Amino acid sequence: MDIQLDTAPCGYVTISDTGIIRSVNQAFLQMLQCGRDELIGRHIESAMSVTNKLFFHTYFYPYIRLYGHVSEMCFSLRTNANEEVPVLLNGVRQEREGETVIDCVVLLMRKRMEYEKDMLQTKTRLEELYQATNEANKRLERLHEEYEQKQQELMRVNHQLETLASTDPLTGLRNRRFFQERLLASLASYRESGEPFSLLIFDIDHFKRINDTYGHPVGDLILTDLARLLQSLSRETDIVARFGGEEFVAILPQADLEEAVRMAERYCSAAAAAAWGEYRITISIGAATVTAEDTGETIVHRADLALYASKNGGRNRVTHASHMPLSK
Ligand code: GH3
Ligand code: MG
Ligand code: MG
Repeated sequence: MDIQLDTAPCGYVTISDTGIIRSVNQAFLQMLQCGRDELIGRHIESAMSVTNKLFFHTYFYPYIRLYGHVSEMCFSLRTNANEEVPVLLNGVRQEREGETVIDCVVLLMRKRMEYEKDMLQTKTRLEELYQATNEANKRLERLHEEYEQKQQELMRVNHQLETLASTDPLTGLRNRRFFQERLLASLASYRESGEPFSLLIFDIDHFKRINDTYGHPVGDLILTDLARLLQSLSRETDIVARFGGEEFVAILPQADLEEAVRMAERYCSAAAAAAWGEYRITISIGAATVTAEDTGETIVHRADLALYASKNGGRNRVTHASHMPLSK
């Protein structure tokens, strides 16, 4: 064997056609950690585990006899100390000096196997991470859905609470607090757009007598029925509310003086004409239409004065604040 082959940085081994080792270079000896004398003349399979021997018989011999060469065959050799030596082998079967021999180049595969193992581990780890990310994403989606449901529930409860806080429990109409808020809002939009609105205050005539004669529960029933009547006569944009006691109010958006009086008359005659059983119920109404000087207090005050005028005028009637001599 020439010096280049003997010291080449890869293993080299020549075996006979039956597998007897004829020559080896230093790198091959290094791989098997033994001396040249120990190997020459021995069968190549003596440096293999049983499994690899089987592999050799199944692939190496049939293949090289059929095609005359093998390329990139992976298997393991074994040292005397029983250590596995993974290798990659290229072999060629040829005639030399009247004998058929097989020349093999053998490359150590330890590093590459380690790389492959690392890569496999990394791939497994990546798959695990991917799965964990997927699960975390699903959990996040579920949490997000829950959060949205809770948010909607909260909004629903808030809405309920708001309605409850602005509703009169006896009649189911809006309460005084709500009315005050809407009155201020109506005033603000009047100042902004000049759109007029009017206010009506309703008061049941001689209601005390009803309570005194038929009892408080009957009085309550009448308050509830009147509330329903007022609500049923109102337009969709009107705000009808219980002002307190046996007094109610209505904000009539876009209603000027004439419209306010017309609507108040309608309420007044509807109450008087309604079927109240054995009771006779009438209401008096004070109306006021917004003016540039009005505040929340003044418009209520003017409607209230008009209501007193209706009472003084004989009840069951409508008075508009603008039709009173001393007040505008
Ligand atoms: P007027 O025609 O001058 O308005 O006479 P009135 O009797 O209606 O007026 P007054 O202010 O003297 O009496 C109002 C009555 O309304 C007294 C009170 O017992 C009754 N009232 C106030 N709130 C309620 C209520 O929630 N339920 C019942 N049943 N009665 C109420
Ligand atoms: Mg009253
Ligand atoms: Mg009254």
